[in-house]
Amino acid sequence: MIIRPKVRGFVCVTAHPTGCAANTREQIEFVKSQPAINGGPKNVLVVGASTGYGLASRIAAAFGCGANTLGVFFERPSERGRTATPGWYNSVAFEKEAKAAGLYASSINGDAFSNEIKEQAIERIKADMGKIDLIIYSLASPRRTDPETGEVYRSTLKPIGADFSNKYLDTDKKTIQKATLEAATDEDIRNTVKVMGGEDWELWIQGLKDADLLDDGCKTVAYDYIGPKATWPVYKEGTIGQAKLDLRRAKAAINETLASVNGEAHVSVNKAVVTQASSAIPGVNLYITILFKIMKELGGHEGCIEQMYRMFGDRIYGGNGSIPIDELGLIRMDDLEMKDNIQNAVAVVWPQIATENVDELTDFEGYQAEFLRLFGFGVDGIDYEAEVEPEVEFE
Ligand code: NAD
Repeated sequence: MIIRPKVRGFVCVTAHPTGCAANTREQIEFVKSQPAINGGPKNVLVVGASTGYGLASRIAAAFGCGANTLGVFFERPSERGRTATPGWYNSVAFEKEAKAAGLYASSINGDAFSNEIKEQAIERIKADMGKIDLIIYSLASPRRTDPETGEVYRSTLKPIGADFSNKYLDTDKKTIQKATLEAATDEDIRNTVKVMGGEDWELWIQGLKDADLLDDGCKTVAYDYIGPKATWPVYKEGTIGQAKLDLRRAKAAINETLASVNGEAHVSVNKAVVTQASSAIPGVNLYITILFKIMKELGGHEGCIEQMYRMFGDRIYGGNGSIPIDELGLIRMDDLEMKDNIQNAVAVVWPQIATENVDELTDFEGYQAEFLRLFGFGVDGIDYEAEVEPEVEFE
């Protein structure tokens, strides 16, 4: 079939198999073009491995460090003429390239929050990999079913304490609108922490430890975001910010779990990038379009793969053995985003932004192109007029 983008708000409901594969290969080529990372991990589990920061982490581990990888994700294969989700196509392409490079690569598609998928991962690791020396936790999910009670929790992106009105970018109409987000209830906060907080990260690490699958010196990293003051009411100080605080609480608990294997848990604060998760956050897409224009002009612009290569090479491995952290104990991969010259420039543009000056003051075109690329569209070298088979299977 001929596959075209069908954008519905902040998602595209179609994905292009060869476009997604080319995107994945491009990220692999980027890592291969960089110096190899010394002292990297050998056996890596990535939870949330199919898109965004998780996929980039998996690529940096495999192609930057020569690691074997097990990827866990929740994607939909192609069914009845419907295309698969991008993470499915990305992961098929990743596995193919990793195997061609002589690396072990295996994937589990299912709900990472469930006991069943954790057990499957443990069995696969036991059978194929031996002990794990790095676990990347990169889930972004709107809901979680508690594995013990069966209760379903939904995460929200709401301010806390009071309603909050802010500008946002309507990417369909290319207009700047104002929206008021209702203040979260206590239940919204609890539910968001349950989904996007650290409880499930702890369960993964405990499960691996109980199965004696953690190698000596094993590391684990989960991802956080802070960003500029303009987005704090919906992000850092909102429901999702509470979940991220819980991730930091979990880090301390996991450090205790890992003490017996001389392991360490970290939270890395990453840069704002275009992913399926970030495009759903009200106001954050507007910030990203402004940020990208400024960072492309002033320097330091990175996507997921540049960030993750740098995190592996400069922070977690490749150094003198001690991972650089800030006064809160966090790895700061958002260092370039948060530089004063960048944030001061964003703060000048933010109040001026209006529908009439979107092209002048933001990287709207760049944002749109990157958004479509997440789904495999607009990728160089792909013939979008050609018939393509949507059903692509893992080998
Ligand atoms: P993403 O949407 O690109 O990826 C989410 C991943 O989680 C996918 O692999 C998906 O398959 C997987 N997933 C979702 N629900 C699942 C489930 N129930 N079971 C198994 N897998 C599941 O998201 P992303 O933007 O790369 O976010 C990853 C992490 O990075 C999040 O913690 C996010 O807060 C953080 N982060 C993102 C940004 C950003 O700008 N995108 C910035 C800083 C930090």
